[in-house]
Amino acid sequence: MLIVMKMGASDEEVRGVLARLKEANLEGHLSPGEERVVIGAVGVIIDPDIRAQMSRMSGVEDVIAISRPYKLTGREFQEADTVIEVGGVKIGDGHMVVMAGPCSIENEDHMVSTAKAVKASGAQILRGGAFKPRTSPYAFRGLGEEGLQHLATAREETGLPVITEVMDSRDVELVARYADILQIGTRNMQNFMLLDEVGMAHKPVMLKRGLSATIDEWLLAAEYIMAKGNRDVILCERGIRTYETATRNTLDLSAIPVVKRLSHLPIISDPAHGTGHWYLVEPMARASMAVGADGLMIEVHPNPDHALSDGGQSLTLENFDSMMRSLEKIGEAVGNPLAPQPQLVTAD
Ligand code: PEP
Ligand code: MN
Repeated sequence: MLIVMKMGASDEEVRGVLARLKEANLEGHLSPGEERVVIGAVGVIIDPDIRAQMSRMSGVEDVIAISRPYKLTGREFQEADTVIEVGGVKIGDGHMVVMAGPCSIENEDHMVSTAKAVKASGAQILRGGAFKPRTSPYAFRGLGEEGLQHLATAREETGLPVITEVMDSRDVELVARYADILQIGTRNMQNFMLLDEVGMAHKPVMLKRGLSATIDEWLLAAEYIMAKGNRDVILCERGIRTYETATRNTLDLSAIPVVKRLSHLPIISDPAHGTGHWYLVEPMARASMAVGADGLMIEVHPNPDHALSDGGQSLTLENFDSMMRSLEKIGEAVGNPLAPQPQLVTAD
């Protein structure tokens, strides 16, 4: 951080700033200029409240942040891409990982048959929601633990690792017993107690971008998880609120290369929640691949018209299969090929 003193600031004011920096365990480096004094403050991480306090001190004209507000999530901290291995699938190693399955787990048959179909089409990870964050309390809110059991059965039958949402810090232990990846939904991106809790879980976490979160806020939310010791964080762009009404949200594709530049963490694109319409899922999935996403999250349902949630943005099994065939070609063309599927290990 740079502290720019006012023109004609007194020696006492400069000494006051240096003393405050020392109190905050920051090193102050003075550069006296012709017109004004500039003080460079150096520290591993600078508390934003200290920055705000400095800007209000007597004799201070301006305080300029130089480094990013996050540390562990930033490229400055780790230059090489983070690669997360889960159930034989690598996320972030230059291959595109497809997480597919229904929005909500509806019953065992539904989960297992959808899982088998998405596996046959080439998906590497299964998704399915057991705890559903719904806008209306009267909508279907998921099967809870029973749903997690169906998801675990689908994993056994297919050998694909599973991802599912945890909404409450009290449920982290329960969900982590079944899930291979814990999903934090958009509405909970800044639920800091929940972020702390999954930061202490021994499972990778996929953190969806908040409905109206800036990229800095999103990376700071990821920082909460990493600061508790969990380094296996995956980010997911799922669309943000804008004034556009033709789509449910605006899928911010530019966030993908921006995040790649700022952070070493893998980033997944979710064109279903990002657009809200099934016919936009394939084109936006193709585009996500081309801009370098590390993976996709896709909602798939054998009969979307009867889905208990998000039917309008879910692909049929046939449409999912044809999208995967098109992604094979795009992936080769743009140097972001589909990842290999994990091997099913059967005990005999
Ligand atoms: C979901 O993936 O099922 C979901 C609820 O997503 P989001 O949190 O992005 O709305
Ligand atoms: Mn959904």
